[in-house]
Amino acid sequence: MLSQGIVNIIYVIAAVLFIVGLKGMAHPRTAVRGNINGAIGMLLAVLATLLSPQFGFDWKFVAIGITIGAVIGIILAIRIAMTSMPELVAIFNGFGGAASVVVAAAELVRYFKMGADGSVDVAQMSIATVLAGLIGSVTFFGSYIAFGKLAEFLAVKWKLHTWQKLVKGGAALVFIALGAYIAYSYDFSVYSILSLVFLIITAVITYAKKAVFPGMQAIKMISAVATVAVGVMLVLQVMGIQSFTEQPMDLFWLLVAISALLGVTLTFSIGGADMPVVIALLNSYSGIAAAMTGFVINNTVLIIAGSLVGASGIILTNLMCVAMNRSLTNVLFGAMGSTQQDVDVDEVYKKVKSTSGDEIAMMLEMAQKVLIVPGYGMAVSQAQHAVRDLANLIESKFGAEVVYGVHPVAGRMPGHMNVLLAEANVPYDKLLEMDTVNSMMDSIDVAVVIGANDVVNPVARTDPDSPIAGMPIIDVDKARTVIVIKRSLSPGFAGIPNPLFAMDNALMFFNDGKKAFVEIIEAVKDV
Ligand code: NDP
Repeated sequence: MLSQGIVNIIYVIAAVLFIVGLKGMAHPRTAVRGNINGAIGMLLAVLATLLSPQFGFDWKFVAIGITIGAVIGIILAIRIAMTSMPELVAIFNGFGGAASVVVAAAELVRYFKMGADGSVDVAQMSIATVLAGLIGSVTFFGSYIAFGKLAEFLAVKWKLHTWQKLVKGGAALVFIALGAYIAYSYDFSVYSILSLVFLIITAVITYAKKAVFPGMQAIKMISAVATVAVGVMLVLQVMGIQSFTEQPMDLFWLLVAISALLGVTLTFSIGGADMPVVIALLNSYSGIAAAMTGFVINNTVLIIAGSLVGASGIILTNLMCVAMNRSLTNVLFGAMGSTQQDVDVDEVYKKVKSTSGDEIAMMLEMAQKVLIVPGYGMAVSQAQHAVRDLANLIESKFGAEVVYGVHPVAGRMPGHMNVLLAEANVPYDKLLEMDTVNSMMDSIDVAVVIGANDVVNPVARTDPDSPIAGMPIIDVDKARTVIVIKRSLSPGFAGIPNPLFAMDNALMFFNDGKKAFVEIIEAVKDV
């Protein structure tokens, strides 16, 4: 056991490591070191907490928890495909929220059983507990929806795979079972029955096949107001100012149930291309919930770590909003349709022309400046190494300059393309940001788009009714020639057709991203 003084010093060291780690993660070159610094900081914080005199741990439970968590974490980290990383991040955010709810509940149970010891500020504890329960529940349920939408089993009309049906049905059953358990545990009090009702509605909504349904905005508003009302009631009850129920924990679980409905409805309608904003926002929520839990159990390092996650998540959310040219309120309450139903796809794609590896090699031979724009398809086909090889070959054989244009929301998570290209050792100074690339577009002879769709879709500029209207894009349509590499004419994440594919200066190379690049490399070698 360590003294509280030593524990506090270790907490300060951990906090410094978190901040240094975050700073490192701001640049791909230092990101790995930043990550390691953060991980060491977290290890120190956990060890110091376990050895702190403040808490009396039952080591048996600690060991069971660490073992279960470590096994799940290691299996997921090893097995998860790079393209499924966003789903994993979404669900990890959710676990953070769920942990905050459970800790807040445990502290509240303890408080109601044993009362406050002298060191506890009841006002602070009650407000922090309410916020931890509220934000934690919104985060958990919202993250489940984000996970389900990214894994394409929620809010979709098509046929699901067996595993998708199992997760969807299993989760809905768990929500209802939780409601039934709460109702039963609190002797079917009014509040506990209301919890059951809210959790049933939550479960039913997750079954909707369309992202937007009648009455959704009203449910969002009502649940938002109700969470605040129940939160205030709970604070008053904990502080002993007003008693609403004989069994005050039933109020806490009602708060969790209404927040579940709020989290589900807030996230469910977000479609089109706005998902990156939501993922960043949920990440921030998980941090805020953790910080609140830190206040509940009086743990400074949890407050610091949670605040850092919360603040960096909000900064990222803001950057994403700017990248999508949308306000946060519009993303959360805009309730826009996720697809454009009324577009005649055959008409849009009437003039599509396709090309081959040999033809592309000849165009590259004539080019002086080549732009490569990667998107989600590069991640799916794991083409980053082939992309780098072709860029090197063009430079060494033809003497052309090759640069990469990276859109901030290309792929399925912030920084997705940067990570893949860094993995393939593409020099950082060749990765240009959207604005830089757009300003030099008239000097680009050939733009090669690999597996990108929404981030190069000119309707964002031209059609104010489009779900991606106003989102800044990489203007490859303004390059002399555009080559788009993808397997078919199917749409990207936003679910809308892309007129770029049929433009006069555009050629489609229908192929898997990696195979296409390998074919072009062979053709360039033969030129
Ligand atoms: P898109 O999702 O718009 O398009 C990806 C394209 O890749 C598809 O049209 C698909 O066409 C093609 N593709 C898939 N597999 C392959 C393959 N093996 N080889 C070649 N092509 C392939 O991707 P973008 O990167 O352009 O845009 C990202 C979208 O995702 C945006 O709408 C963004 O808002 C959203 N989003 C971004 C997040 C982020 O944080 N970055 C998070 C969540 C969503 P085909 O099937 O014909 O091959």
